[in-house]
Amino acid sequence: MASYYNKETILYLNGEYIKASEAKMDFYSQSLHYGYAVFEGIRSYKTTDGETKIFKAVEHYERLKHSALAMNMPYHWSAEELIEITYEVLSKNNLQNAYIRPLVYAPANMSFVINEASFIVIEVWEMGLFLGENLLRVMTSSFQRPNPKGFNITAKAAGHYVNSILASQEAKAKGYDEALLTDMNGFVAEGPGANMFCEKDGKLFTPALGNILPGITRATVFEICDEAGIEVEEKQITLEELKGADAAFFCGTAAEIVGWESLDDVKFTKNWNDTVSKKIQSIYKEKVTEAVFNTQEV
Ligand code: PMP
Repeated sequence: MASYYNKETILYLNGEYIKASEAKMDFYSQSLHYGYAVFEGIRSYKTTDGETKIFKAVEHYERLKHSALAMNMPYHWSAEELIEITYEVLSKNNLQNAYIRPLVYAPANMSFVINEASFIVIEVWEMGLFLGENLLRVMTSSFQRPNPKGFNITAKAAGHYVNSILASQEAKAKGYDEALLTDMNGFVAEGPGANMFCEKDGKLFTPALGNILPGITRATVFEICDEAGIEVEEKQITLEELKGADAAFFCGTAAEIVGWESLDDVKFTKNWNDTVSKKIQSIYKEKVTEAVFNTQEV
């Protein structure tokens, strides 16, 4: 198992910067028992001018707020203050290339009633640059994404991730790198922790919103397509169509952009290096480490 902290690691917990090894939480928390918590997955990068930049910081903290409100959790933090705190946590831990995990959780409560307060923790750990050089062998999961009529699926809620864990573990147990989940109607949806795109004849396709987490990296891919003049369309994609695509990739804050070798052992025929998907991967790589003065980021 990975080690996320050591004796020196500092985290932010409800107004205080404290040692991770000394942080406590309530074992009677509604979050622990029912998966009733919301969180974010954010990354910071050392930019080309040596500064630390949290990529899409505002977007992530706005989504955290959206997730909390969608779950009826009290929420009283501004994106601005949380961004400032996050830079402070990074600095206290001497980290530039990092993964940032804010989590909003509930007090002790074994019932289902709304709470009067929420708590927040912000943890950071080192994450090296760009992991996704190898193409993935992907398997269609036997698990589908949650029914949007059963969950507020635009929220990044802890409990939703039981579905992701089941799907990812199943794929790995069968010798694949990752799972692809369909939606409740059998159309292509997303990975356990990433959105997906496929490419056909130089054009990109991605599942429309409705059954997937509206990813910030997904939105960044649209931004890149717009800037690079690449055509992209949101539509319902069948597994059959996907298997006939030239290329496909996952995109997410942690995964960044990672190409697929095959789906259910059906190989994508086009050489990854000759795809527009690869071009998008390269532009994304440059974007995340772009010097701060070049961007709209806070
Ligand atoms: N779908 C799911 C289920 C996820 O967990 C993630 C990761 N947050 C994504 C998509 C991608 O979202 P983002 O690009 O905002 O990280």
